[in-house]
Amino acid sequence: MGDYTDRLQARINTQRADVGHCNICGSFGRLTKDHVPPKGVPGPSGFDLYRIQQATGAFPLGRARTFQNGVTFKTLCKGCNNDRLGGTYDRALVSFCRTVSAMLESPLSLPSKINVRLQPNLVCRAVIGHMLAIDPGRIAAGTMEEPMKTYFLDSHAVFPSDIHFFLWLYPSQRRVQVRGAGRTSISRGVNPFVFSLLKFFPLAFMVTQYEGPEVASGTVSLQGMRRLGLTSDLDIVFPLRSIRSLGWPEFPSDDDGSAVLHGSGSTVAIPKAAKATPLRK
Ligand SMILES: [Zn+2]
Repeated sequence: MGDYTDRLQARINTQRADVGHCNICGSFGRLTKDHVPPKGVPGPSGFDLYRIQQATGAFPLGRARTFQNGVTFKTLCKGCNNDRLGGTYDRALVSFCRTVSAMLESPLSLPSKINVRLQPNLVCRAVIGHMLAIDPGRIAAGTMEEPMKTYFLDSHAVFPSDIHFFLWLYPSQRRVQVRGAGRTSISRGVNPFVFSLLKFFPLAFMVTQYEGPEVASGTVSLQGMRRLGLTSDLDIVFPLRSIRSLGWPEFPSDDDGSAVLHGSGSTVAIPKAAKATPLRK
């Protein structure tokens, strides 16, 4: 137990080396720091980063890695970071997040749903690029990450049919970064699924190979983007009445006997202004 809590409380590694293989394309060279999420999304800039296991409330929080200007992972080559993300994809993600944030924070109206327009093939590529930037030294691989990587690197590719992209409103300033976790349950009829996740105000984004009711209810699917070009618009609707709980899916819930398996790519970032209280909700 002592070893386990010691390991949990050691600070997270967000940069392994100055030179190495890019997490996404695998090319060898100088590595650059990727902001996860990109600079320009709404919210504060100072964060303390913890392993997700530290944030359950079961252990003392331990030592954080502090970032004054947004959390970064030194894991991407210049081409993936500066040209693809910074030069092409991030702008659409930042713009989309700012639009939703302005709608949520408008003092003038409280609608039952939010209609919003986005460029889904740019937004998805930005989110996928930042998901794969998590966890230094881990090059994209496996049945879920290979299609993510192919789609990210080829701007003409259609969104792969063997993965799914979901998003939902996330009204919290805590940020969550997960690369490849598994959620399972002992309840009958609840299926296990593997997911990667980025949550930062005002939205949560998830990639998974599963599309059953456990993930589809209370979320918005972007299936419609498969017939759209790189810069085409898509109109989506967020219902405001059925928002997913803040800790889903990265924390288990008591009511369905669920458990979540996390690896080294699961972290929580708490705004520096916030008190270090247990994060599980
Ligand atoms: Zn690269």
